[in-house]
Amino acid sequence: MNCPRCDQPLGPRVAGFATRPAGEEYVHCWYRCEPCGHYVRDTVVDRFSGDTDRFVDVVQDELGTRTIGLIAQCPAPLDDKCRCLVHSTVGVGW
Ligand SMILES: [Zn+2]
Ligand SMILES: [Zn+2]
Repeated sequence: MNCPRCDQPLGPRVAGFATRPAGEEYVHCWYRCEPCGHYVRDTVVDRFSGDTDRFVDVVQDELGTRTIGLIAQCPAPLDDKCRCLVHSTVGVGW
């Protein structure tokens, strides 16, 4: 995948996070774009209806660093049933 902002190839995944806020599963994959200094968040949503949606967002450097720092505090970031503080306080929006 290329960065949607500068169209350069992205590096390896730097973080992943799965959450299921209302019966729909959100899986976020975070990538760092070195050439433009931003993060890219690739989100797949597994809808209750069985449909799947995908969003790719460019995230500003500071917010991305903060979010990935939060994810690192969760003992099981890819477990959508995790009940840690990060999972219970973090919304879908980020
Ligand atoms: Zn970029
Ligand atoms: Zn957790």
